[in-house]
Amino acid sequence: MVKPSERLTQLRGLLARYDHRYYVLNDPEVPDAEYDRLFGELKTLEEAHPALVSPDSPTQRVSGAPLKEFGEIEHQLPMLSLDNAFSADEVRAFDRRVRERLGRETPITYSCEPKLDGLAVSLRYEHGKLVHGATRGDGARGEDVTLNLRTIASVPLNLLGEAYPRVLEVRGEVFMSRDGFARMNREALARNEKIFVNPRNAAAGSLRQLDSRVTALRPLQIYFYGVGLIEDGNLPDSHSQILGCLRTWGLRVSPLTQVATDVAGILAYYEVIHTQRATLPYDIDGVVYKVDALAEQRALGFVARAPRWALAHKFPAEEEMTTVRDIEWQVGRTGALTPVARLTPVFVGGVTVSNATLHNIDELLRKDVRVGDSVFIRRAGDVIPEVVRVIAERRPIDTKPVTLPVHCPVCGSTVARVTDEAVIRCTGGTSCPAQRKEAIRHYAARRAMDIEGLGDKLIEQLVDAGLVATPADLYGLKVQTLESLERMGKKSALNLVAAIEESKKTTFAKFLFALGMPNVGEATALALAEHFASMVALQAATLDEIMAVQDVGPIVATAVRTFLDEKTNQQVIADLRAHGVHWPDVVKKTSGFQPLAGKTLVITGTLPTLSRMEAEEMIRAAGGKVSGSVTKKTSYLLAGSDGGSKLQKAGELSVKIISESEFRLLVL
Ligand code: NAD
Repeated sequence: MVKPSERLTQLRGLLARYDHRYYVLNDPEVPDAEYDRLFGELKTLEEAHPALVSPDSPTQRVSGAPLKEFGEIEHQLPMLSLDNAFSADEVRAFDRRVRERLGRETPITYSCEPKLDGLAVSLRYEHGKLVHGATRGDGARGEDVTLNLRTIASVPLNLLGEAYPRVLEVRGEVFMSRDGFARMNREALARNEKIFVNPRNAAAGSLRQLDSRVTALRPLQIYFYGVGLIEDGNLPDSHSQILGCLRTWGLRVSPLTQVATDVAGILAYYEVIHTQRATLPYDIDGVVYKVDALAEQRALGFVARAPRWALAHKFPAEEEMTTVRDIEWQVGRTGALTPVARLTPVFVGGVTVSNATLHNIDELLRKDVRVGDSVFIRRAGDVIPEVVRVIAERRPIDTKPVTLPVHCPVCGSTVARVTDEAVIRCTGGTSCPAQRKEAIRHYAARRAMDIEGLGDKLIEQLVDAGLVATPADLYGLKVQTLESLERMGKKSALNLVAAIEESKKTTFAKFLFALGMPNVGEATALALAEHFASMVALQAATLDEIMAVQDVGPIVATAVRTFLDEKTNQQVIADLRAHGVHWPDVVKKTSGFQPLAGKTLVITGTLPTLSRMEAEEMIRAAGGKVSGSVTKKTSYLLAGSDGGSKLQKAGELSVKIISESEFRLLVL
């Protein structure tokens, strides 16, 4: 048994280390959930052994220290943290404590706000002008990030109106939207730079840049949620009314703030915001309740690191840590092998997760995930759980990098890597049971041939028993055969045979989609169907003719051609037709006059009025094709300002160069 004093020292040491990684380096070693657990354990231990509490304990002070590289700004009023609650019971206990301290029997009115997951800043306005802004730092002194804050579009440099105090310190949260974060990480990856683990750390890393030109390029935003010091001016006597004032002065306040008049109201607010969490464009990690009346806030006061009048009610964590038990390869419909991490089950994002995708080999190799590793797992909303990264500090000594499979784990065929693609594929084709199952699952799916009752388990049985190898075999299944399968009664067998029969009546587009050609989704299948109108015409089409279909480029066209050239696929298509799969005639799509029919255009530079997308759409609507590079076959180069090498190439190949106005005349 570890002695309480030893455990205390251990916990403080760990939390100090995690604080440094989180607040100074913006690169947390562990997920917040782990930090919060250790923090909770420390608090409980200190409560049981008050003599062991020291002023430097993380429970007694605001964590984080200003970086020396920035100038320092002293906060006229300290910037505090918030006490946390993780359950409704803890919230009720908070409300009880508040009422007891205030000596009130009647319910308390609270301001309820989303808890944005970013970093806190304090901005000082004098005579309505922004004079400086600082991070929270250690609560007493923060980093001077004025220049960086000025680059954020939602930070007003001048307040609106005139009714603001002469000196106004406002507090808010700088954050990054999820989209902005994903874009920034994508760009960093392309430049081989380090990526951030989540939007919060990306926001903190972006605001705490020594070069404000870097900050200016980062998609940062701000919401304000409170005031610090004011001089020469009056504010209303409730927090919610103050938020109203901030709005009128042009300071952005979250539109999700609300007033609740009792504890039931704040708990209802929590539920509402929790259900909205996944659809918000930015991360929130909970909600904050603040006693609304300022007089009551003053009466309640502060403890060491947090006010007694506010509480953060946290949502279940979306990031957790666990260990990788195994890394397996799943074989998809087109033979692509996807690495999947088998995990020690962990509760994250509201469910128990025991598998997480590793996406593809490039991701796996970049993240260097190994069996035995401790990993960050993220599950936000309904998105499939993913391994964010390895916790390098916890890697056991005997781990080995994952080796790529040379044989398909299901059928043993050789595995091939497609050049330029982050995909490795089993070359077994339809002889691979995994691919067979996936092909049949895809064929029977609702949006394809819609065969009701043909579920995954049944497909497994049918393929494993050798009863079905291709979708065409489904049409030969007899009620007696199906009846003999596990968990299949006469009625289900009859229903299934009827559903299979019914699926023979389809549309050409659905049929093409159901075939499961690589890279052919529903939209492409529809475009192919409308363009060729018949299977015979499509089968006879050349690569160039397939490329003439709207939105079909060389990759898709090659995939379609290769699929159709494959003997086994030709046989399956013939068998399906022989079994009576049929569809009504397709009316060939002709969209009236097509002035650019048969023409290929390339676009370069910035056009005066049209965006690239608009120009592309106009070309396609006029029957033309858009290509990315100038060749001898290019009909026109549509050039705006700043066109580069394409202009030169067009000159060399004598390709006609046209301006936007000439182009407009062409497509009239
Ligand atoms: P906190 O994040 O729990 O709460 C205080 C902060 O909430 C404020 O400073 C402000 O930035 C923010 N906030 C958002 N919306 C707000 C609103 N409407 N009103 C008021 N404040 C609002 O506390 P903290 O002290 O900033 O950080 C502690 C937390 O940080 C821990 O609970 C942990 O989750 C995380 N942390 C994680 C690690 C790690 O290693 N993963 C390390 C240190 C801290």
